[in-house]
Amino acid sequence: MKYAYYGSPEGPLVTPEAFIIKASVQYKKKGIYPYCPACGKALDLYGVHTPLALSRFDHKNLEKNILPEDDCILANRNSRFKGLIPDGFDRARGIELREAFFEDENLKIAYAFCWKMCRQGNLPAERFKKLIERADKHNIWAYSNLPLWITPYILLTFGDFMVAPKDNKKGYTFQFIFNKPRATTISSLWLLSEQCSLMKVFVKSGDLVKLSDNPYPLSKEALFEKAGNIDWIKKPLLNSLMLSETPAQKRARESLVEIQCVAP
Ligand SMILES: [Zn+2]
Repeated sequence: MKYAYYGSPEGPLVTPEAFIIKASVQYKKKGIYPYCPACGKALDLYGVHTPLALSRFDHKNLEKNILPEDDCILANRNSRFKGLIPDGFDRARGIELREAFFEDENLKIAYAFCWKMCRQGNLPAERFKKLIERADKHNIWAYSNLPLWITPYILLTFGDFMVAPKDNKKGYTFQFIFNKPRATTISSLWLLSEQCSLMKVFVKSGDLVKLSDNPYPLSKEALFEKAGNIDWIKKPLLNSLMLSETPAQKRARESLVEIQCVAP
């Protein structure tokens, strides 16, 4: 990783070189660490004084008992999320984007889209909230230039879903994965969206689930079309989809307000 927050998850974004200049090589003794812009965890620092290696921030070893889906996307250890590496981070925009996501109309569209993509009965409100929790964990809101319309698509890739057995038909587990140009960052999902799609696949085999709308195109129009009429989502259901901000998000928002107050 080329950037991390200095001294705390609310600190300024710095390069490894800038970190060392500011904190000195004694940074550990001083208790000053770099923090991941995505998961907010303290990072290790490599290669600042070795000219042959590129300097970088790295995640510490993966904790035991952590689900692969919960591992930080920037740690780059989970092939499922390889295509979701961001181009950069914009904390102020991240706070705005998350707020916009929870506006009534936008939340209805996001839920209706995901609900229909999973098909009836496969995405109860609680499951949808788990997807948002994961989005919070990965802090996707702060990914540079992430448009609001792509967020429901990304949410779908954050979980596995079940079709229960019914009338002699076997049940199965499925997941959504992006089909996108190789070795590109997440921005190809909206900059090269015509070259991308969202595929519904069986978890067991990785094969495409045979459906007329699978794979599904990526665009604002395709999102609206699949969401369709959203009037069936009434206030009680909408309220059950709300998720309050995490303590880390609250601190980030408050620290931004402080910066804005100080700025001339
Ligand atoms: Zn991280």
